Amino acid sequence: MKILIANLGSTSFKYRLFEMSDTDAALLAKGGFERVTEYTPCIEEMLETLVGEGHLLSGEDLDAVGFKTVLGKDLSGCVKADERVLEALDGFKEVAPAHNPAYVEGIRCFQKMLPEVTRVALFETAFYQWVSLAASTYAIPKAWRDLGIRRYGFHGASHKFIAERTAELLGNDAVADRVRRLYVDGPGEYTGDPVRVISCHLGGSSSVTGIQNGVSIGTSMGFSPQSGLPQNNRVGDLDSMAIPYVCKMLGITVEEAERQLNKESGMLGLSGVSNDARDIEDAAAAGNADAQHALDVQIDSIRHWAGSFFFKMGGAEVISFTAGIGENDSALRSAVCAGLEGFGVKIDEVANAQTIRGKEGVISTPDSTIKVVVIPANEELVIAREVYRNVQS
Ligand code: AMP
Repeated sequence: MKILIANLGSTSFKYRLFEMSDTDAALLAKGGFERVTEYTPCIEEMLETLVGEGHLLSGEDLDAVGFKTVLGKDLSGCVKADERVLEALDGFKEVAPAHNPAYVEGIRCFQKMLPEVTRVALFETAFYQWVSLAASTYAIPKAWRDLGIRRYGFHGASHKFIAERTAELLGNDAVADRVRRLYVDGPGEYTGDPVRVISCHLGGSSSVTGIQNGVSIGTSMGFSPQSGLPQNNRVGDLDSMAIPYVCKMLGITVEEAERQLNKESGMLGLSGVSNDARDIEDAAAAGNADAQHALDVQIDSIRHWAGSFFFKMGGAEVISFTAGIGENDSALRSAVCAGLEGFGVKIDEVANAQTIRGKEGVISTPDSTIKVVVIPANEELVIAREVYRNVQS
């Protein structure tokens, strides 16, 4: 089955074509366009290339197109990308302005150009559909809650992959299968050995998620991807009273405050150096106190959220690191896990230092009661697998 994954940015269009089967996912082709103002010519050119390279006979040769949609109003999961999805994306366009309008436009383009090809949306919020009401509710007036303001959570594709892979690494087929079937069958019952995972997705955008027996019990991101850990340019958690106070004291509008929280905050705002962890670490090593402070804040925040899920799940079998920082930054991983010997976490510093650049590996010692692992992220593959399961169901 040929599945195309379309990654739609507000100024970019990237794609990957997979040949999927029950046992395999082969990447046939990938490509992309930058400085995009219209998707239609990009899709035309992409199809020409894929046909020219012999991967497709025509656009209709595709079995499905998958979209990693971010946030839908009153809709989540892995679902056919129909009018309902377009309305849901439109309903929250103000909350995800960089993502939702792009996906509405992109999905419409595919609908027009390849009407016979199945379109499937995998919402980033999908993995949090079974988080308890208590854990997803903000203490706000009913009228606000009625607008859909609650914790949704993001990076769902990435954390779901971690849920499946960690179960495989523990040799727990029942949980791995439960994760694979989650968006098709729901969680169902599970009575086997516990598989509690603290999943740290640490990249340009970061989140920590608690996963119990393959199902998420909560995550650090909330109503929008703006909350939780400090992000590269974005603030992470912030007390709501700071906004009116800053607007008054600095004489700026709410929109300007929002812009600064989106573009000039996070690791960039704290370090004053860069939004890239490598630059910040170099600056910290060279004695830049602000850069070191930014790293300290980031590590504290990761530990804060990891600790919360450890407590809520009553322990953990696995701590997992993924994405650009999680996969490469052994010093940060070591700092996140420091001083946790009392909980049974022992890092093998040699294995930790050697596990970089997209390598999967166990970085805890054999006698560590909690396994600490690094698992490379591959979101397009995750989406392709979910789209395949959706089309087959
Ligand atoms: P992602 O969003 O998953 O692509 O991750 C991007 C981030 O990974 C970049 O902003 C870098 O800060 C970080 N990163 C990539 N390589 C390294 C590295 N070798 N050490 C530390 N951070 C890294």
